[in-house]
Amino acid sequence: MDFQLTEEQLAVQAAARDFAQNDLLPGVIERDTYEKFPAEQIKKMGELGFMGMMVDPKYNGGGMDTVSYVLAMEEISKIDSSASVAMSVNNSLVCWGLEKYGTEEQKEKYLKRLATGEIIGAFCLSEPEAGSDATSQRTTAEDKGDYYLVNGTKNWITNGNSASVYLVIAQTDKEKGHKGINALIVERETEGFVVGKKEEKLGIRGSDTHSLMFQDMKVPKENRIGEDGFGFNFAMSTLNGGRIGIAAQALGIASGAYELALKYSKERKAFGKEINQHQAIAFKLADMATQIETARLLCLKAAWLKDQKQDFSQASAMAKLYASQVAMDTTVEAVQVHGGYGFVKEYHVERLMRDAKITQIYEGTSEIQKIVISRNILK
Ligand SMILES: Cc1cc2nc3c(=O)[nH]c(=O)nc-3n(C[C@H](O)[C@H](O)[C@H](O)COP(=O)(O)OP(=O)(O)OC[C@H]3O[C@@H](n4cnc5c(N)ncnc54)[C@H](O)[C@@H]3O)c2cc1C
Repeated sequence: MDFQLTEEQLAVQAAARDFAQNDLLPGVIERDTYEKFPAEQIKKMGELGFMGMMVDPKYNGGGMDTVSYVLAMEEISKIDSSASVAMSVNNSLVCWGLEKYGTEEQKEKYLKRLATGEIIGAFCLSEPEAGSDATSQRTTAEDKGDYYLVNGTKNWITNGNSASVYLVIAQTDKEKGHKGINALIVERETEGFVVGKKEEKLGIRGSDTHSLMFQDMKVPKENRIGEDGFGFNFAMSTLNGGRIGIAAQALGIASGAYELALKYSKERKAFGKEINQHQAIAFKLADMATQIETARLLCLKAAWLKDQKQDFSQASAMAKLYASQVAMDTTVEAVQVHGGYGFVKEYHVERLMRDAKITQIYEGTSEIQKIVISRNILK
């Protein structure tokens, strides 16, 4: 066992930290307030290699390991989770899914541009009536010979109005249940593709979350990922890996809030001493540090297992379940350490507290993670 990061991993971590401090921190409060998508910042993330970190260099990716991805996600999420969710979806759902299951033609046509961040992708599984129960797909992809005729509505799609390529999950053969579902690559310009309303959200307010409507949209057969009926397995497999990204996002939100609380506790004085000299505050900091370190180890273990090509489904579910709870607990306590200042935007911790909540909901709620973990334990 080796807890030492390699020089390359440390370099990725430092580059992500610099980028977050220099490019994401300025304007993050304004983007949150006015729900502004960090388009320029994401473009730069592409130039720095953060949008296709694990993709093979032959498809223009960074060829990095999942551990490096976790390190970068943590640093970027300390500052701006609206940027890191775009990064997470592009890396672990769209790029990873295409690289693992796409055809050579699909990789040439789409992956090469997604991996550089020249274009970004979206992952479209959830529907108004199909969230946790993703088998209840109402979106249909009728087989019409050389194309699929797609109709339906998707909800809550991250990068919904900013993406160029959408991986859409839809039901082709209802009688076959989840074995009749397909995953299709849809280009934004396709006729019948309509971007619906933007959601007004509690947190990650800079993220571009939209519903999408498909009206008699014709998608060529060559845009199907995998064999006929592979779509549900495709979605579950990509979400398994995606959970590592969201776990790392939760970790970053927690460690960002902790760093701010630690700093503030050294600056603020009450009753003649720094507030961290009051044991009630010192113990909060001790609890935060311990929980964050535990979450970090779970994230890195899940990433390491994935890099070793071992089964990581239980590990990624545990990492997401735990890290998202730590994000909630730490951010609430970080606001408390800041007192009244924690309640205003300028000090950042109230935003981190609002951003933390989504990590318990998307890419499988905490309850769904417990189902995954308990099924693994009991099998
Ligand atoms: C900001 C945001 C961004 C998102 N981005 C995307 C995206 O890019 N692509 C995408 O496809 N989706 C996306 N989603 C959707 C997200 O993944 C779903 O909201 C989530 O999976 C939960 O589904 P639901 O909202 O339908 O809740 P439901 O499934 O209706 O769940 C409601 C409650 O019931 C619980 N529950 C449900 N089933 C069970 C069960 N069997 N056992 C115990 N408890 C259960 C849930 O845990 C939850 O507490 C996003 C959502 C949000 C809010």
